[in-house]
Amino acid sequence: MQTFAQHATDSGQETRNEADAHDPILFLQSLIRCNTVTRQGDEQALAEILASALRAAGNVEVSIHPIESGRCNLIARVKSERPGPRIVLSGHLDTVPIGSVPWTHDPFAADIVEGKLYGRGAVDMKSGLAALLHAFLRVARMHPSEWEGELIFAATSAEETGAEGAALMVESGQLPAFDLMIIAEPTNNELVVTHKGVLWLKLISHGKAAHGSMPSAGINAIEKMIPLHARLNERLRWDLTHPMLGSATATVTMFQAGVQANVIPDRCEMTIDIRSLPGHDHESILQAVHSEINAAIEADPQSRFDVEVLLNLPALASSPGSPSVHTALDVLSMHLGRTIHARGAQYFTDASVFQRIGGDILIMGPGSPSLAHQVDEFVHVDDYLAAIDIYHKILLKLLSSTRSARPE
Ligand SMILES: [Zn+2]
Repeated sequence: MQTFAQHATDSGQETRNEADAHDPILFLQSLIRCNTVTRQGDEQALAEILASALRAAGNVEVSIHPIESGRCNLIARVKSERPGPRIVLSGHLDTVPIGSVPWTHDPFAADIVEGKLYGRGAVDMKSGLAALLHAFLRVARMHPSEWEGELIFAATSAEETGAEGAALMVESGQLPAFDLMIIAEPTNNELVVTHKGVLWLKLISHGKAAHGSMPSAGINAIEKMIPLHARLNERLRWDLTHPMLGSATATVTMFQAGVQANVIPDRCEMTIDIRSLPGHDHESILQAVHSEINAAIEADPQSRFDVEVLLNLPALASSPGSPSVHTALDVLSMHLGRTIHARGAQYFTDASVFQRIGGDILIMGPGSPSLAHQVDEFVHVDDYLAAIDIYHKILLKLLSSTRSARPE
């Protein structure tokens, strides 16, 4: 394997269009140079880079599932000759926008400086996606008699806007039921087995417009919303705590109303971001919201409200004691030289959707989650390369019950 120092000197223009799957660092650079900002970039172009690297293995079945112009899902499958578990490796193709604050490093140049590879998606999650692909190819290149089961690589569209690609993958049957999934979201190469769910609600208060000098001629939508906000603030509090996740939360994140200083507002919108715990039924949260709306209307019959569910994804709860979790922890502890424990994460992932059709889902990937979505996002090249080895070792253990698998 080439060292970082050799790559640091050739990170310039001559490699800009190169997508060399044999060199993991050049390959990651090619992924970052492909702009896949959600709904602005070209996820299809990124999927084509991944597809050509996968097809080059010769025995991998690759399919691209278009969603709309520039957006698609990708599925690649390789089978052994022996029955065994079906394991899915998954990551998302899109990134968040680069933001309005200028970057020190061009977000689409993939510069490498002092061991850090910079760019939008370096952490979230093109380094994870590239590492999974390389681990997948290492297994695909083994003789089909040397391992057992089936390995699938699944790249999703539009995770950052609410796991839309994953939902399509599940609902359309593009992805079959699986025994285990690894999602390469950034965790500093540690192991996350549980994360919060998310429920985004938009509440709309309907009033009646009038001249600001004659408020009694109208119905003020803001003044009707404020008592409802107070009720929900009391109702959406939970005593539950989770050892890895802490408390469930509900927070008002948007409040919009009014068109002019002298007009009684006829509409007020309030958006609430609810983060739930495993086992926390979103249906019961919605029922609580509706009962507070009914109580608010009873207290003030001029009030009128609607509720829109903007996003509804349950929490992830993989079993911390499962054999695959133990295998992952053993490999990680050995590789990182310290005891690694399974943890929880506050953010949500495609796992919220995928858990409907599968067994345990492990979230582990290179890069610090605190750098995701930031200006000058970067991943340590060494952490990215370590992730490939870690995934590969975990796969070898899980896909071979005998010791005949060839270590690389
Ligand atoms: Zn992500």
